[in-house]
Amino acid sequence: MTTLSQRDQAVIWHPFTQMQTAPMPIPIVRGKGSVLYTEDGGELLDMISSWWVTIHGHAHTHIAERVSAQLRTLEHTIFAGFTHEPAVQLAERLLPVLPTNQRRVFYSDNGSTAVEVALKMAFQYWHNLGKPRRKVVAFDDAYHGDTFGAMAVGGRSAFTAPFAPFLFDVTYLPAPVPGREAEVLELARAVFTDEVAAFIVEPLVQGAGGMVMYEPDVLDQLFAMARTQGTLLIADEVMTGFGRTGKLFASHYLTEQPDLMCLSKGLTGGTMALSITTCTEAIYDAFLSTDKMKTLFHGHSFTANPVACAASLASLDLLLTSERQADIQRIADQHTAFAIRLRQSPVVGNVRQRGTLLAFDLVTSGQTSYFNNIRDVAYDFLLEKGVLMRPLGNVLYLMPPYCTTNAQLQVAYEAVFALLAQLEA
Ligand SMILES: *Cc1c(COP(=O)(O)O)cnc(C)c1O
Repeated sequence: MTTLSQRDQAVIWHPFTQMQTAPMPIPIVRGKGSVLYTEDGGELLDMISSWWVTIHGHAHTHIAERVSAQLRTLEHTIFAGFTHEPAVQLAERLLPVLPTNQRRVFYSDNGSTAVEVALKMAFQYWHNLGKPRRKVVAFDDAYHGDTFGAMAVGGRSAFTAPFAPFLFDVTYLPAPVPGREAEVLELARAVFTDEVAAFIVEPLVQGAGGMVMYEPDVLDQLFAMARTQGTLLIADEVMTGFGRTGKLFASHYLTEQPDLMCLSKGLTGGTMALSITTCTEAIYDAFLSTDKMKTLFHGHSFTANPVACAASLASLDLLLTSERQADIQRIADQHTAFAIRLRQSPVVGNVRQRGTLLAFDLVTSGQTSYFNNIRDVAYDFLLEKGVLMRPLGNVLYLMPPYCTTNAQLQVAYEAVFALLAQLEA
């Protein structure tokens, strides 16, 4: 009998996976809350919200019901020349909870395309004004997605090396992590000229780059500096949005407001592929004209898919309840207590937290092959303990769904301590 894993291996090419050496994929048959159930009867605590998307837990009945009802009513319609209730209602409900200058919603279907749209809006904004600007500023080790424009503004690494000749030039600033603020602000003074079209950042937490965290104050100063030159500010909140950082959006920690925002991942509660790029009235206005050439010529087959919009409305219903907001605070408090204990471990460094997101480095003086392989060792060890975490190199992090109970968090924390004990030995 062939297993699902074997059938998979015959026909599938997985994301971010070296198919020659990767272990067999684990078949998941069901999910509920923070738990994934494996084919062989095992349970995994999903402490990464299934790649940072599942904010209310798996198979949530409220979202399932809204999605099911929408599927029976209108599953899809073209969005050029047509509209529908879920798309309009989602924009109506989302705009009031975003920074107050955000006025227009443009739909696409994943985080990378939300970034592509923001970049195209920014470049064409300057084009339409008749003052073309070509430069973009981003942070080192940024991650904005895997399509070409998104790759171009991300930090350059082994992942992007084969495509380097095809990526447009970007000027990078070091991330203004604690202790480096003054240095970055000094560098920025030379970088922000009136040739810079846009400055794109993951506000407060750089996710895929290793859960690099920095303070709102320095980002406010950088935003203010860029803005004196008219540069458009893009907040890529694909990961940080929808409560992850403790506030509804990381931009809410700032005084300066971004001009454009990119949202996806938690938008649908992690059920469907949908993304949004929002912008200010000034950007929107720069595309209004009797001249057709000023149009934003961009769209996707599944733009504003009604089922995905319905999932997002259901997710917002849940997210905006006081109960869910209390869950976010509860998880943040649990993390804070865990962080105090973590800091006592000799193999843990740079413990950092923003809301429901806790990260730390595994550090060791010994350069044994065991430690060079630390990422795989940690991943396998935790999986064995029934905890799904996915270290980024030597960076371990917890990004649980908001429904995760304190008891479940304790299980994950104890698994981490067991790993640390093994590394300390
Ligand atoms: C995941 C991510 C993206 C890309 O989103 P996809 O839906 O995977 O294309 C973009 N920006 C940030 C900050 C992300 O974390």
